[in-house]
Amino acid sequence: MQTALYIHFPFCLKKCLYCDFNSLAGSPVKAEAYVDGLLQEMALRAGVLSEPASAPTLYFGGGTPSLMDPKLVGRIIDTAARLYHLASDAEITLEANPGTLSKEKLAEFRSAGVNRLSLGVQAFDDRQLEMLGRVHNASQALAAYGLARDAGFTNISIDLIHSLPGETVDMWGTELRKALALQPEHISAYALTLEEGTPLAEQAATGVVELPAETDAVRQFELTTELLQAAGYEQYEISNFARPGFRSQHNQVYWRRGCYLGFGAGAHSFLREAPHGVRWKNADLPERYLATLAHRTLPEEEMHTLSRREAISEWLFLGLRMLEGVELAEFEDEFGGAVTDLFANELATLTGQGLLLMEGGRLRLSPAALIVSNQVFLRFL
Ligand code: SF4
Repeated sequence: MQTALYIHFPFCLKKCLYCDFNSLAGSPVKAEAYVDGLLQEMALRAGVLSEPASAPTLYFGGGTPSLMDPKLVGRIIDTAARLYHLASDAEITLEANPGTLSKEKLAEFRSAGVNRLSLGVQAFDDRQLEMLGRVHNASQALAAYGLARDAGFTNISIDLIHSLPGETVDMWGTELRKALALQPEHISAYALTLEEGTPLAEQAATGVVELPAETDAVRQFELTTELLQAAGYEQYEISNFARPGFRSQHNQVYWRRGCYLGFGAGAHSFLREAPHGVRWKNADLPERYLATLAHRTLPEEEMHTLSRREAISEWLFLGLRMLEGVELAEFEDEFGGAVTDLFANELATLTGQGLLLMEGGRLRLSPAALIVSNQVFLRFL
């Protein structure tokens, strides 16, 4: 069974003001104890899989996994190789916060086996970084990028956020040009989302900060595509751009509804078990996660077996995130019927509006639909 592997390290130096991920400022448990738990979870899970796993990718996310001691990262990679047949040429990504890196540490991550770095730059403007509550500034981000290249990383992704409070289209263009000047292999550029309950959402609700007008936000999205495509990046997913050969292999597993096993507090997993797949999520709190493992019990919660209808919706809205879209014959193989029969009305409407294109046996979003993709996906729920 091919399955991607995800490792969640939920600790950060400080909670960013827009963040609603399963992450905590500080570390209520020691990193070594947490990783011991992770390794135990990996062993317990391997023992209950219905067939041996083989892993094409391993992804360290968080949280801030770059806070980990590279030796702990190495132990996890070795365990993945032993228990999950992590491929010798596997893509091994580590999310890194520029405020947590040094030349030595980057070299050690590289030696431990990490071969792709996802650098959480978010912005090159210090005022915006401060507004977001990030621990790093722009010069640290530039320095971290240079150190990563010096340490031998030849596959670096940069994360950026656009449509920030007070950000004009010109300001965003400047940010993109600064990113392009670095020539990273991959760029993820998402619009800021105000998540309920975060301090930034509260500031926006009370008028302390003001988001750009919708027309400006749309223009920033369009400008991203224009500048990055002109610079030779392929937009292969709504918010993700890659130089040839550098798409994120791991994230494509999610969008193609492939299998993945997530380890760590709050990590999600999905296996395509008959008939339509099963999902589960681990306990969020690290203390609870570790306490469950202390009883040699898997920390899974919220197990859900998907219905055919749920699996179909998911197959469509995940697959359509990729610009190449979905293959109609694959749908028939998987679900035993034609998507054109099941969603005849929706497809007629959306293709009539020019939001969906059906050609060459594939269904995909039109360029005009990228900015309103959520409205398209809602039609399939
Ligand atoms: S570093 Fe990432 S995970 Fe941690 S608080 Fe900031 S946005 Fe959230």
